[in-house]
This record gives sequence, structure tokens and C-alpha cells, in this order.
Amino acid sequence: MIDIHVHFFPAKLFQAIWRFFETASGGLWRIHYKVHGEQHIRILRDQGVDRFTTLVYAHKPGVADRLNEFIKTSAERHPELIPFGTLFAGDGRCESAARRIFEQYRFAGIKLHPFVSGEPLDDRRFFPVYEMMESLGKVLICHPGSAPVYHQYDGAERLRRVLTQFPHLKVVIAHCGAFEYGSYGALADEFEQVYFDTAMNGVPVDFLPPACPGRDFFLRYQDRILFGSDFPNIPYPYVEQIEAVKRLDLGEDVEKKIFLENARRLLGWKKTMP
Ligand SMILES: [Zn+2]
Repeated sequence: MIDIHVHFFPAKLFQAIWRFFETASGGLWRIHYKVHGEQHIRILRDQGVDRFTTLVYAHKPGVADRLNEFIKTSAERHPELIPFGTLFAGDGRCESAARRIFEQYRFAGIKLHPFVSGEPLDDRRFFPVYEMMESLGKVLICHPGSAPVYHQYDGAERLRRVLTQFPHLKVVIAHCGAFEYGSYGALADEFEQVYFDTAMNGVPVDFLPPACPGRDFFLRYQDRILFGSDFPNIPYPYVEQIEAVKRLDLGEDVEKKIFLENARRLLGWKKTMP
């Protein structure tokens, strides 16, 4: 199985992120797995995950390059990793940084987190990067929805602006676009390379509004939904996410698509994993 939404930061940054989650939530969001490196990988392997992404993002200038180098070195050491980097437009040189991570480091894509970076998806400085990604078949994983706690929310229009210009750009909308399922679903109807990940949908987190677009959404977008967990930044055991998908009772074929085949197609992998 493939997990398309896994974070893989250096230990120090992970600790800062966990501190942030726990403080900002007033202690409600207790990270269940404070793990990094080898231990992080081992836990996922034990859950039956064969390959997983390395989502990183920058919250300020001067961080993205170092994160990308960290991912490059880690992916060379651990074949389980599907290397994803990030870009920070404020660093300048977006295009050359993108060329380096895609052509030299051979990353599968990038993660952008507009609420954390303060850089919206339709920031024109990313456009040459999107153009490059569209032609190379690289994947943009982004978190444009308001869940779980973002009060600031500016709608699906920004992503629509990007896709109107780059209609074949491969995009994964994290968390199925929670909580704006309808407007992100509309993007998937319109653009054939728009995907979703399942992270945090259907899991029991009693201090958040319930997040799940429902069985019909999963059936309708069964070729576009990828299993994702948000590991390790989750306040419950990993298996909860697997069970949340299984609880929808989608049938064996659809489950196989969600847990494996859709991700494989998105990443351009053949039947055997590289
Ligand atoms: Zn995440």
C-alpha cells in the first residue's frame, strides 16, 4: 500500500511542529507518534505501508533548500520514501530551485501549504514552476481547504486559477479538500488530473468538526482518491485512518484503487514499484 500524505521533517523541525500543534490546540491535539528517521519509517512499514511521500513545507524564507537537501539524502538511504520537496517563492529563484529538485534530485513533486507559508497557490511566482511540472508530469500536493483549524480560507478559486492556466497539472488536494468538499469536487469534475487524499477524513477526533465527504463522494471519485494519513502528526493511532476508509464499505476493487492503484497511476509507476 502507498500513503500519499506523510510528513518527513528533520527531528528539530518535527519537534517545533508538534509543539505548535499541541500549544495551538490547547493540549487537545496530542501527537500520537513523536517519531522521525528510522523509527518513523519502521512504524509505517509495520502498518503495511510499502512506499510513502515525504511532505515538507517552509514557514519562512531560507528553509526550503535545506529541507530539499534533507529529503534528497534521506531518499537515497531509504527506498520506501517517495521524495517530495517544497518551494518558497519568497526565496526567489523559484524556477532554478524547481529545476534542481525535479531534474537533479528526481523528486516526484512538491508540497505547498499556503496557510503556513503565507504564499497563495496562485502566486504568479509559482507559475513557471507549474509549467515545468505540467510538462514533466510532477505532482503538486497542496492543502488549500480550511480543515482542520484554518480560520483564514480563500476558497477553491485560487486553485481554479492555476488549473485554468495549467489544466494538465497533477494536483492532490489534501484531506479531500475538507471542509469545502463541494467546491474541490467541482474542480475534479472539470480537470482530469485533480486527485484527493483521505487524510483525517472519517477518523474519530471529537474536538474537531466531523470531516468526511461521505460514501457517495468516495464512490464518485474512486479513481481520484488516494490513501493518505498525515502521519506522524496525528492525534490517534495510524490504523484509525485505514479503518475509516474500510468503514465506508466501498468494496474490494475500490479499496484497491484507493490504497494502491490510484497513487501508482498518478506517480506514473508500472505494475511493479520502482
Ligand atoms: Zn499534512
